[in-house]
Amino acid sequence: MTSALNPYEMAVKQLEEVAKLMDLDRGILEILKRPKREIIVHLPVKMDNGEIRVFTGYRVQHNDARGPCKGGIRYHPDVNLDEVRALAMWMTWKTAVMDLPYGGAKGGIRCDPKEMSQGELERLTRRYTYAIREFIGTYIDIPAPDVYTNEQTMAWIMDTYSVLEGRFEPGVVTAKPVAIGGSLGRTEATGLGVMYAAREAVKALGLNPKEVTVAIQGYGNVAYWAAKFAHEWGYKVVAVSDTKGGIYNPDGLDPDKVLEHKRKSPKRSVVDFPGAKNISNEELLELDVTLLIPAAIEGVITEKNAPNINAKIISEGANGPTTPEADKILYEKGVLVIPDILANAGGVTVSYFEWVQALTRDYWTKEQVFRRLEERMVRAFNEVYRLSKEKGVDMRTAAYMIAVSRVAEAMKLRGIWP
Ligand code: NAD
Repeated sequence: MTSALNPYEMAVKQLEEVAKLMDLDRGILEILKRPKREIIVHLPVKMDNGEIRVFTGYRVQHNDARGPCKGGIRYHPDVNLDEVRALAMWMTWKTAVMDLPYGGAKGGIRCDPKEMSQGELERLTRRYTYAIREFIGTYIDIPAPDVYTNEQTMAWIMDTYSVLEGRFEPGVVTAKPVAIGGSLGRTEATGLGVMYAAREAVKALGLNPKEVTVAIQGYGNVAYWAAKFAHEWGYKVVAVSDTKGGIYNPDGLDPDKVLEHKRKSPKRSVVDFPGAKNISNEELLELDVTLLIPAAIEGVITEKNAPNINAKIISEGANGPTTPEADKILYEKGVLVIPDILANAGGVTVSYFEWVQALTRDYWTKEQVFRRLEERMVRAFNEVYRLSKEKGVDMRTAAYMIAVSRVAEAMKLRGIWP
């Protein structure tokens, strides 16, 4: 990411650039540059040692013209208002490009969850929920997990909210445990979505599906499921990595065996996997493969390594893995980049399915979830791909154009009131 700009300034700049291309109404642009609502709460929590500590929490609701706000909550020492603002705006575009009936929001608490006990995390989560309860809800704003929050965090939020409301409210959060209304297939959703999008790209470029090779940066939730489905579909996963480094085998890796190795190895890493060569994360990104999936952290494909990228397709599992400078280089090189707001939207899409199931109390099988996810990913990919060809722009610009125009249309139809 451009270091001179903070994430919010960058999000606004992206929006302004797309607005210019689309000739977006100035008034609508002025509204969209700012979040609709920003909530800052100070949360006293009794720690295990009896001390009281006060944490700062945020919830930013960027836009709700197309439906209730939707977005995760992160617990991290670096959380700040501008970061949450940017993430909230990106959620508006992500839900819009997928045509989900939602707006965008994000939340966070500035804390160090690795230093906190389960009891402390539970008290912090319940206090935060209590503090923002008027502003969230099944038809208002629906949180989900993000960095260092999980199913358990969602269960605590749902319980606190339900107790305060005096009724069972499973629709208030998504990515809950299945036992209390979570959806089957949510765990696999993001990695599977990344692969559905990639498979459409393979088709669009007319590549032979039997000859697809895949390199994946990361081996967490998104990366593992992407690897697993790629392998199941007959693609050859030749490299994966984690913080300790990567592994490469041109004959292909078995994703489950790699996972087992990572779990059992003293380093808790994929490195030293039998039969594979250890490589660095930098080398992994430059491998000569059909498909590259960055599924770890942001800012890994930059102007420095973009000229050396050999992949034909990049499907962005992580949020923000490619810098704007790298984007230009890749586009000129003819690399098809499926942008994060489209490629990794499988998670929020199945969150939407979970919400629909919560509203109807009609629970779907995993096969139904996967089929509906596939339909949505295929449709969204092709809409973006067609527009990128029609306008002669990269896929990220096309995805933004679709998203912003959907939100702008909803705002115009609803009008400004009061
Ligand atoms: P995770 O914590 O399960 O996995 C992250 C993986 O990245 C781990 O294997 C870790 O070792 C690796 N990693 C971290 N730093 C690294 C580095 N510097 N170099 C190489 N590898 C590194 O997280 P996840 O849920 O798989 O999420 C991965 C990315 O996908 C994040 O950017 C996240 O925001 C994004 N994302 C996740 C979801 C989801 O549903 N989980 C949805 C949308 C986007």
